[in-house]
Amino acid sequence: MFYLNDPIKEETLKQELYSNMSFVALIIRTSDGQIVGCNNFAENFYGYTSDILCSKNINTINQLPKIEVDLEIERAKSCKRNFFLFKHELSNGDVKDVYVYSYPFVEEGNDYLLSIVVEAQTIDSKVIEYMDQLKMNEVIIDSIQDLIYTIDIIEDKLVVKSINEASKSIIDFESMDLIGQNPSMFIHSRDIGIFFELKNSSDYQLNKTVLHITKDKRSINLDTNINKVELNGVTTFICVARDIRENIMLVNNLDYTKNLFTNLFNNSHDSMFIINKNLEVKDFNNVSRALFDIQQNKLGMDLVKALDITNTSIYDKLHEAILIGYHSFKFEYDDKHGVTKYLRFIVNQIDEVEEKPNKDYFVIIVDESDMIITQKTTQLYQHIFEHNSEGVIVTNDKGIIQWANPAFCILSGFNRNEIVGQNPRVLQSGKQDEVFYQEMWNSILKTGSYSTEIWNKNKQGILYPTFLNVYKIEQSFDKNLSYIGIVKDLTAKKKLENKVTNLYNKDRLTKLFNRYYFEEKLKVMMDNHNKCAVILIEVDEFKKINDLKGHDYGDRILLDIASKLEFVFEERMISRMGSDDFGILFEFTRFGSVEECLYKFFLMLRPREGSSNKTLNYTVSSGISIIQGDSISVNQTIKNAAIAKDRASKTRGNHFSIYSEEMAKELRYKMELEEALEIATTEQEFYVMYQPIYNTRLDRYTGVEALVRWEHHSYGSISPGVFIPIAEANGFIKDIGYYVLQQCCNDFSVLKECFGEDVSIAINMSPLQFEQSEVVNNMYQMVKEHNINPSSFEIEITESSYMTNINYFMEMTDEFKRLGFSIVVDDFGTGYSSLNRLVELDVDKVKIDKSFIDHIGSLKKYEELIEVINNISKTLDMDVVAEGVEKDFQYDFIKKLGIKYVQGYYKSRPVKIEYIREVIK
Ligand code: C2E
Ligand code: CA
Ligand code: CA
Repeated sequence: MFYLNDPIKEETLKQELYSNMSFVALIIRTSDGQIVGCNNFAENFYGYTSDILCSKNINTINQLPKIEVDLEIERAKSCKRNFFLFKHELSNGDVKDVYVYSYPFVEEGNDYLLSIVVEAQTIDSKVIEYMDQLKMNEVIIDSIQDLIYTIDIIEDKLVVKSINEASKSIIDFESMDLIGQNPSMFIHSRDIGIFFELKNSSDYQLNKTVLHITKDKRSINLDTNINKVELNGVTTFICVARDIRENIMLVNNLDYTKNLFTNLFNNSHDSMFIINKNLEVKDFNNVSRALFDIQQNKLGMDLVKALDITNTSIYDKLHEAILIGYHSFKFEYDDKHGVTKYLRFIVNQIDEVEEKPNKDYFVIIVDESDMIITQKTTQLYQHIFEHNSEGVIVTNDKGIIQWANPAFCILSGFNRNEIVGQNPRVLQSGKQDEVFYQEMWNSILKTGSYSTEIWNKNKQGILYPTFLNVYKIEQSFDKNLSYIGIVKDLTAKKKLENKVTNLYNKDRLTKLFNRYYFEEKLKVMMDNHNKCAVILIEVDEFKKINDLKGHDYGDRILLDIASKLEFVFEERMISRMGSDDFGILFEFTRFGSVEECLYKFFLMLRPREGSSNKTLNYTVSSGISIIQGDSISVNQTIKNAAIAKDRASKTRGNHFSIYSEEMAKELRYKMELEEALEIATTEQEFYVMYQPIYNTRLDRYTGVEALVRWEHHSYGSISPGVFIPIAEANGFIKDIGYYVLQQCCNDFSVLKECFGEDVSIAINMSPLQFEQSEVVNNMYQMVKEHNINPSSFEIEITESSYMTNINYFMEMTDEFKRLGFSIVVDDFGTGYSSLNRLVELDVDKVKIDKSFIDHIGSLKKYEELIEVINNISKTLDMDVVAEGVEKDFQYDFIKKLGIKYVQGYYKSRPVKIEYIREVIK
């Protein structure tokens, strides 16, 4: 602080001081860093003219993060004055460590900061510590070791008007002790005359080494810059006195200095050497030993050679230093291992002492390699982040975005200003729920990172898929840099994926996924232990519908199902598994149970009231397999659903069943039977029973139906209702068919004897047997071999047999008829009951199914139906058989209608050939 009572004078003095301060750079800047003024020294120091310097912002000169400048400003404004160590870039590209000391002032309502910039290399860090102890920090307008004072000449007497607090450290005086006093208190009488000389001279400035005196009468030579100012007839001198030698070494107390120096020398973190003007090493400290691997024998050696530096350009710089007496420079070279070293050399001339006429030099070598490498890699990282094609954001510990790279801005549609300060929540698409984000954060906090595919929303509200990596910055030096998010745009990849998926994984007709893709997804679900179910849905008797109504109709059904499934099961994975079956992957995490969804679906399948005949008419069967535990395979899961579906299809028409162990047992039993069937033929476990058929008009038995039996060696007798479908499925039915016919032929003589010459033997033929084109001829040959007339045989076919491929079937039946066999339609009334077909096929008999007979006496409708069938048959010249007649009233009803044949337990059960005589007696 200047202790002046005249404000105008104070201002002028300040200005003088400001522009002529010859050892420190002064900069005036606005609080946002724009430089608006500087002194001559600043021009020289930075290497810019004041015009150019004033067009710059201090932040562009400063190489450290802006945050430090902000902190400095904040400190300066709150008058917590402090030195800040910055790195300032000069016009020649050199970066210098500088101490900046700032204080605020207001002019015409604007905030400014006056900063004093001092090069840090002029002071060793230890000295700073030392000065700290001396409370140098608190000094105002301080150039660290510069002593600043003003002297007035009043009536030919010199009076100290102001002095800064450097007085304490340099000359041991309190400033208050000197103000108003004669400067001879601290300026040697030898030099006091220069003020008078300057006053009378035409010069306004003088640079001179002035001998100063401390309070305890020590003398110090200070290079002093004296400025003369004349105001209102008063001559004022502004003096800035600087100790350009290491001031520490100038303290007169030699022991203390020596001690201090030795301490500094040996304990410094920087390498230190003492050399002479020929660069010969005279001493070095411990750090040098470690840093440069220098042994004692290097003493007397050329410094450059001692350091093993092969780049000889350093000589110029060192010689320059010797010449000037002080120099600080950077030197970069590759060491013998090829590693680039960044060294800073600070050379200082050591005070010349009379008894030692040859000057020595003090060389401090600071290894800045680590710092510079860090700086460079930091810049490199920044470059990489800035130019990364993936979006990068950095958030603080509260998750607020602090920084975003251009790629991120493009991806999100927000510019940097809009996104910085936001919570990443603004990017949420709504596709992931709260639980998802919760899990993500838990993982980040626990493991330090998380990566996931995630949907984001851009500024325009459009959703886009991304791959997100989040990392917690461990041991973050700054709470503003706590998390890094790297966001990769998956839009293109997803598009391609979708294309490929569609190409390879979708069904062409329904555009649903195919079985292959379904299984893949199911595997992923099962591997992840997701709780889910597989639903299979199959169209009942699709093959028949297709054959009967054409493939276009079939396709329409499939499309109808696909659209309804999509409606009911929404985003769940729906696939077309085969020709007429569909699969649904049902995750339980979402709302709605499997059953509910299926009921909804079945409801949609019901033909709507009043709808025209355009409505598709079909039903489906569905099976569900719920995945619990992980012991079963994908294949098994689908198989289980298929088992359940087969079970459901037994009760035709929009039913479902859920797979159970019971079903599996049943299936296993079936499979065992299948195996057993194979041996049954060779082991002769089959035999034939005959059920007599009664002619109501002749009042006697006129024929039989041959019914096959299987006596399994361990299961006992197995019903044909159980094994015929199995035999049909694996093709054994053909062998069984021939076996039955063979047996009938063998028993023919007995049957003829019992039922007369015109006996008719009905044998059942499965539609599967018709698949062999040679079956007609084979049967004919077999009959002929036994000299039996084919007219003794009736071929029983069910309505369902001729539903598929009617033309082929007609060829076969025509052939049978041509050879003399009769054709009987079995189970009439249970299938499609197409009268047209009966005529086309030239059927001889129809068998009214037991289910009609069962309703006689209870349901009038069925009685009427039986009558209608009978009447039509008469018109078409076909005989009628009533099958499954068990009760007398049923028999009476049939007889009264005039139906010709009756078959049923009322008359007789099927019996073995040896009992047939007894039964018909
Ligand atoms: P289906 O051709 O309708 O045979 C008539 C079935 O009804 C026989 O059962 C017979 O025992 C039974 N039945 C006859 N009258 C009555 C009655 O009054 N009450 C009751 N409850 N049942 C009566 P079965 O022998 O168990 O045969 C079942 C089915 O197995 C047959 O039905 C037929 O479709 C098939 N089947 C039997 N033998 C053969 C064969 O040799 N070849 C082929 N392809 N299928 C056969
Ligand atoms: Ca039959
Ligand atoms: Ca029947």
